[in-house]
Parts: sequence; structure tokens; C-alpha cells
Amino acid sequence: MKKKFQIVCLCMFVFALLVAGCGGSKAKKELIVGTEPAFAPFEFQKENSKDFVGFDIDLIQAIAKQMGYEKCTIQGMGFDALIPALDAKNIDVAIAGMTITDERAKKVNFSKPYYKSGLAIVVNKDNNAINDIADLKGKKIAVQIGTTGAMEAEKIAGAKITSFNTNGEACLELKNKAVDAVIGDLPVEAYFLQQGGKDFAKIVGKTLTSEDYGIAVAKSNTALAKDVDKALDTLKQNGEYDKLYKKWFGELPKK
Ligand code: GLN
Repeated sequence: MKKKFQIVCLCMFVFALLVAGCGGSKAKKELIVGTEPAFAPFEFQKENSKDFVGFDIDLIQAIAKQMGYEKCTIQGMGFDALIPALDAKNIDVAIAGMTITDERAKKVNFSKPYYKSGLAIVVNKDNNAINDIADLKGKKIAVQIGTTGAMEAEKIAGAKITSFNTNGEACLELKNKAVDAVIGDLPVEAYFLQQGGKDFAKIVGKTLTSEDYGIAVAKSNTALAKDVDKALDTLKQNGEYDKLYKKWFGELPKK
């Protein structure tokens, strides 16, 4: 009888070990995140610091923690390198103010939307000729490569488009008066103006588009995409998402 009890105990012990081993604790050691760290206030490096900061960075770190990861490592790369990096499994997720588009959704799994955005036109402060998208016909426009801003600029008749790796470089081209306008994400352009860009530039016209940012996961990794959504839902419910939104945008998200 005693022996039987011992065997039962042993079996339970082995079973517990197996459960612990398969519980994903090994697989959940590290989440590798790709981003394009020149997109303040979503992802950027503070002066004299190598650390990545921003709304997206805080959000993905909170999501990783919520999913049970011990570590969340952020890797910086060009915006147009993010989807290929997901495909190559060099990164697990990409968060980079990335707009959910039909085209991209064919290549990756997107999380539910986590930020409402749109495109803005930026011109030099002393430019009174460009007041709306209609005034951009045939004009010189700077954009960031591979972005929705670049796609929007391509629709403008006769526009001469120059592409840059970052929004900052596109804005520098505007400062140097080498282009007439920049088309880029409104919250990023607004932050740029607020951080000193208003000395030479301004936003004009209506917001051109309505876009949703999503977190991208490789097309093959549907399980991770589901987990990201679940964690995002939890953070929205428990107030953590609102806290981060307020920290970076100074207000609560519009419901
Ligand atoms: N939201 C834009 C896009 O998805 C720009 C993103 C970015 O430059 N990081 O194309």
C-alpha cells in the first residue's frame, strides 16, 4: 500500500515537472522587438543615450511583461527592414507606428489597432502658397521611405518625390528649402514642431487620412499574434494603456 502511494507521488511529481517544462517558461524568456527608432514620440533615442524610449517602447514592454516574458529586447532598424526581419524570424514583433494597411496585412499578422493616426502636410513657416493637398500638385515633396506618407505623395499629380530613411531627414530637406513640403504622420510632425521645428515649419490643411497603428507579427506566428492582442486587451482594461497614453500624449485617448 505504502509503495503504491509512493508511486502515485512520484507520478504526480514527474507530471508537475512536465507541466512546468511545457508551460512555455523556456519559450517565454525573451521577446525580440524590431522598431525604427527615429519616430518620436513613439520610438526614439534620447540625446546621449542608447536606450530606446517612447509610447511604443513602453507599450511593447508592458505587453511582453503581461505575456509573461522575462526580457524584452528592442532592436533598431530602418522602417522598410521591419517586415523582412519578421519574415526572416530575426525579430518576433515589430512596433514602429506602423499603419495597418491591406497591403501589409497580406504579409504580416497585425494586432488590433492601438493608436489612431493620420497624415499631415508640413511646409515652411513663410510659405503661404500651400494650404492644402490640392496645392501640392507638381511640387517637390519629401517623405520617409516605405511609409503611408510616401504612398499618399505618390498619388499627387506631377509631384516630385524624394525619399529619406527618416522623417527627420525629410524635415531637414524642408528646412534647407530643397523641397516644398513633407508628408508624414500627424503625431510625429506635431511633436517635431513642438520640439523646435516650429521655428521654420508649420502644419497646413486637413489631416489627409485616418490610419490605425498595429503591432506586426510574422504571418506564420498566429499564436503570438493572439497573445499580443490578449495582452493589449488586458492593458486597455486595467488602465495601464491609458496611463502610458497620458504619459506620452498628455491626454487620454479619445473613446
Ligand atoms: N505610419 C506610417 C506607416 O506605417 C509611418 C511609420 C514610420 O515611419 N515609423 O507607413
